[in-house]
This record gives sequence, C-alpha cells and structure tokens, in this order.
Amino acid sequence: MNPSVVTRFAPSPTGNLNIGGVRAGIFAYLFARHQGGRFILRIEDTDRERSKKEYEENIIESLQWLGLEYDALYRQSDHTARYEELLHTLVEQNRAYVSKEEHTENGGRTEVVRFRNPNKVIRFDDLIHGTISVDTTELKDFVIAKSFTEPVFHFTNVVDDWDAGVTHVVRGDDHISNTPRQILIQEALDAPSMLYAHLPLILDGDRSKLSKRKGAKALTEYRDLGFIPEGILNFDAFLGWHPAHDVEILSKAELIEQFSLERVQKSPGIFNEEKLLWFNHEHLKKLSDTEFEIRLKTFSKQEFDARLVPLIKERAQTLAEATGLLAEYDFLDTASPDKNLLLQQSTLDAETTKTHLTALVGMLKKIESGNFTQSPVKEVVFPYATAQGRGAVLWPLRVALSGKENSPDPFTLAGLLGKEKTLARIEKARGLL
Ligand code: GLU
Repeated sequence: MNPSVVTRFAPSPTGNLNIGGVRAGIFAYLFARHQGGRFILRIEDTDRERSKKEYEENIIESLQWLGLEYDALYRQSDHTARYEELLHTLVEQNRAYVSKEEHTENGGRTEVVRFRNPNKVIRFDDLIHGTISVDTTELKDFVIAKSFTEPVFHFTNVVDDWDAGVTHVVRGDDHISNTPRQILIQEALDAPSMLYAHLPLILDGDRSKLSKRKGAKALTEYRDLGFIPEGILNFDAFLGWHPAHDVEILSKAELIEQFSLERVQKSPGIFNEEKLLWFNHEHLKKLSDTEFEIRLKTFSKQEFDARLVPLIKERAQTLAEATGLLAEYDFLDTASPDKNLLLQQSTLDAETTKTHLTALVGMLKKIESGNFTQSPVKEVVFPYATAQGRGAVLWPLRVALSGKENSPDPFTLAGLLGKEKTLARIEKARGLL
C-alpha cells in the first residue's frame, strides 16, 4: 500500500469513450485503488477544434456506468491562465523563446513558443518496458505553444500532471515516444519527475489495429447491447494483464486486490469479442436472481414473471439476449398448439398420443396443487415416458403446454404453469386429436 500514489486517466474528448480506450483508465484506476491512492479524471480538451462537450459527457457517463469513481475531475480548458503564466516564466528564464515563423501557405508570419532543447539523453525507467533512453537532439527546439494562450498537448499534459501531484503515468505505449519531450519540459519547469507505465497495444484477433467496427465500439454502445459493467471491466482488465493464478472471473474488488503493474505484459493484448461475451455471461450468471431481475427489467423496460429468471440467466449472454428470451416465455399467458406440431410434424400416431395425454392427466391429477412444481411432476411423468418412449410422451406434452416448437422441458413448464393450467392445456390438446 502506498497512499501517496496518484494516477490519472486523461482522455481527449474527441470521440465516445471506446472499449479499448478505457483500458488505460481501468489500469490507472486499479493501480491507484490497490495502493489506497488517488485516481483523477482529466479531460484533455486542449485541442479546442476537435474537443466536443458531448464526448466529454460520454466519457463521464461511461466511467460512472463502469464504476470507475474518480477523486477529482479536471478540465484543461479551465487551466489556461496557469499555462500562460508558465509559458511566460519559461521564456523569461530563457528555457523557451518566441519564434517568428513564416507561413508557408499565405506568406504571413506568426509567433510560436519553442522549447530551447538542451540536447541531452533522457533516460527513464518504464515500469513495463524497462529502461528507455533517447537522445533528444533530433527533436530540435520543438513547439510548446502556438501562442501564449494556445499551448500544445505536451506542455499542458506535463503541467497538469505536475499540478495534480501525479506520481504514476499509466497510459498506452503509443505515448512512449512523447515521454522524452515531456520529461524535458518537466525538468525545465523544475517539476518533480514521475514514474511511467506504458501499456501494451490492443490488437484485433488478426493482429490488425482495432477498428470502429471491431472492438473500438463505444462503451455506451456495449451497454445498450446488454453488456454489464462487471463483464466489461473484467474483460478489459485482461487486455494485457492477468492475475497470478488461473481464476478468470473477478469482481471489481478482486481486480483491485490482485492488480499489479509488474504483471502487465509487454506484448499486445488481443481483443476477442467471443471472450467478451463469455465474461459477460459469467458475470450475468453470478448476479443474484433479484439483481438479475432488476437489471433485466431496467434494460428490457418490461415486466415479467420473476420465476423465469433462473431459466433465462443460464441461457442469455447479454441482457439483449435475455430480452429476446422473454418473448419465448409468452406461453405463460396463452398457448395454442396445432395438431401437426403436437404430433411432431405428424410423425407421431394420433391415437397413441391421445392415450398418453389421457394417462398423463390421470397421473398429474394426483399431485396436490400446492406441491405442483417441477420435481414432483418429473417424478411421475419421467418413469412413464421412459417406459413408453420419451419422444412419444414428452414431445406432445411439451407442445401441449407451450404451443411452441422450442421451449423449456415439460417439467419446468408444468411447474411454471401450475396444476390447473397444466391440466387444462393437456385436455385442450387431447381434444385436437
Ligand atoms: N490525451 C491523451 C490521449 O488521449 C492522453 C495522454 C496521457 O495519458 O498522458 O491519448
């Protein structure tokens, strides 16, 4: 535990937060919480043209949904005075200078602020990649602001990490190449150094970059497709990390407890939507029946019989699938089987089937109403079906009860329907033969 740890997630609001992009936030969060430290959300809206309020809202909504609570929220657009002040300081100290640049397009001139590069070798110990050392000479005197009120990403990023007391920068390894430049700025500002953990890339199953179509879908889209935060969190945590043991299904609390940067791999994490579905299904099954019922009611905006929950929970990988399954259970209200289906597309003999249904009515009548659940029904029906031929007995019974080609087994159905409805439906089916 190290409660002085401070991490941050610093997305740019230039698009909805996607399932790959949030991974850096998840790792920064898990690390901070594991250490008992702080986790900050910083909206990097320095690029005013590309930043949009709706994307900022999407980022916040997604993190809330996922359960990544942050201790503070900053926005770069609120810090312009601070950046301006520090740019002036650097220029006064001759660590940066104003440079008049010719515009190639229109021949006009503008002034930019350039960093006076000390041309040295920067070394840093990346917690995932090991020691990285770069000669910064080739970066030349790079631009840190387009004007005193228009700082660029490298500058604002460093100032904000410093001001927020960030101790560990956890981010994608596409930022490794930015780090030497950012350390130079940090040193010029006399800001304390921080530790870096650059996370491996996330690639698609065929090792190509994640695309919008595959994997780079927004978290809110996955939410609307019926994925639950527990599933997504667990899936994302495994993109480049895995715990010391084989258990894969982990709750948020377990992820926090087990997470360590030492176990983050260098090689790319592979995005696999099948695996995501699997994680989601496992977490759906872990929900209590009551909790599942609440989530499915909210998602499907439908009322339904709570006794369906255990049946649906086993089968549905997402809440959208569960909603689809609800429709399969509409026979609870009414069922109208047809003769052809009762006789399994006319492969069963009508007279024999009628005899079976009559026998079943006789047996089921003996079970008391209060005790008419799946297992007593199975106890009387199953031995009879085994003796007479299971298909010949159970098929027509199931169709009589559900009216459908596909449905749960007849014992479950009878239990759900209760004695009165079960007997009435068998009688009705018998009347068709
Ligand atoms: N705003 C940067 C991005 O979206 C984050 C940079 C960082 O985490 O330092 O990639």
